[in-house]
Amino acid sequence: MNLDIQTILVVLLANVMATAVALPLLMGWRVSNAARLFQGGMVVQGLSWALFLVAPRVHDRALTSVALGLLALSFAMLWSALQAWIGPRPGKRAMWGLVVAMPLVYAWAYPSYPARVGLSNAMFAAQMVLVCVALAMPAPHIGRRWRGLLLASFVALTIVTLWRGVLGAFFTEAYPFFRATHPVNVAAVFLNHVALSLCTLGLLAAWREEAERELRRQAQTDGLTGLLNRQAFLERAQVALAHATRYNEPLTLLMLDVDHFKRINDQHGHAAGDVALQTIATGLRSCVRAGDLYCRYGGEEFCVLLSRAEAKDAMRFDERLRGCLITHARDTGAEPLDYSAGVATRQASDTTMDALLLRADAALYQAKAEGRGRLVESPGPSEQHELKFHAAA
Ligand code: GH3
Ligand code: MG
Ligand code: MG
Repeated sequence: MNLDIQTILVVLLANVMATAVALPLLMGWRVSNAARLFQGGMVVQGLSWALFLVAPRVHDRALTSVALGLLALSFAMLWSALQAWIGPRPGKRAMWGLVVAMPLVYAWAYPSYPARVGLSNAMFAAQMVLVCVALAMPAPHIGRRWRGLLLASFVALTIVTLWRGVLGAFFTEAYPFFRATHPVNVAAVFLNHVALSLCTLGLLAAWREEAERELRRQAQTDGLTGLLNRQAFLERAQVALAHATRYNEPLTLLMLDVDHFKRINDQHGHAAGDVALQTIATGLRSCVRAGDLYCRYGGEEFCVLLSRAEAKDAMRFDERLRGCLITHARDTGAEPLDYSAGVATRQASDTTMDALLLRADAALYQAKAEGRGRLVESPGPSEQHELKFHAAA
């Protein structure tokens, strides 16, 4: 088989360019930052190969330096895309430092073939190692298959790149110029083709996973407030209840309903009503402890499930939330929001969330009946006769 480097490079350029054009056409422009970085990286890589091919005919030292800088930039963009998909990864400074250093070092070392080949390949290999680390580090809930695919490509690329650098720097007679058909050089350029195909497939898999994650998030979230919706809350609450039952821990449900909410809609318009619901959501977010579950239960009703908490903890939570709403009204000049709340603490007989919800709802109903703006605790088994209530501040 007669493989010459120049031909492989021209075909590689055509493939990269076609992929760079096809990806945005296929995926559209309105994609996530991660996908956009990946798409942009492909365009930058196409430019770098084009420049690389014309460099010897125009000004080899200057244009090849820029081409290598662009190639380093495309790796950094791919690495940043991975960060956006997988989460923070180490090596940000090194990755971007190599992008800046690549053209400068290459231009500086240009007069010495062993130095420029050795150094540039070592720097590319360092970037590839960072990409490998980003892919290999544990990332729960992120697809292992597409990461594995990309990892395999980049491990192979790292090996041949390092090998090529060592050949150029220390065994120059075996690899005396870039387009030499040394088997390692052929393998390196050849692998670029394979890596391009695998990375594109990996991108499409990551993109699909991202879309699935977003659909799942939307199915579990209330669009107006960004809180969990009722169904997602109940699924998680049932697990929390089972856990509390198993370890015999206290668990308290607080259900709240905004008072005279219809008036806000009627007097200030539906949009003002929406803002009021968002204000409650913000208050809930800032008042809950880590690990507590909360949701928009429906309309202007919200639920909070306080783990390892008794009724007195719910009362403290209630005070905090009311305080938050008062402060918000004072700061913004908006009409103060008030609500009624019912609280039910887990009893041995509560095997499903329905039982807990029923008692919290009854206590809420009672809070409304007693004049609103207050919290009422559902009676425990030994105190059925005794109803406690807590008047609003
Ligand atoms: P109460 O003190 O007895 O709870 O009186 P209320 O007016 O708050 O209660 P009611 O259940 O009669 O009214 C709830 C209103 O909430 C009716 C409905 O139009 C409004 N609502 C439900 N969902 C939304 C929403 O997403 N946005 C807005 N702006 N209003 C909503
Ligand atoms: Mg209501
Ligand atoms: Mg209401």
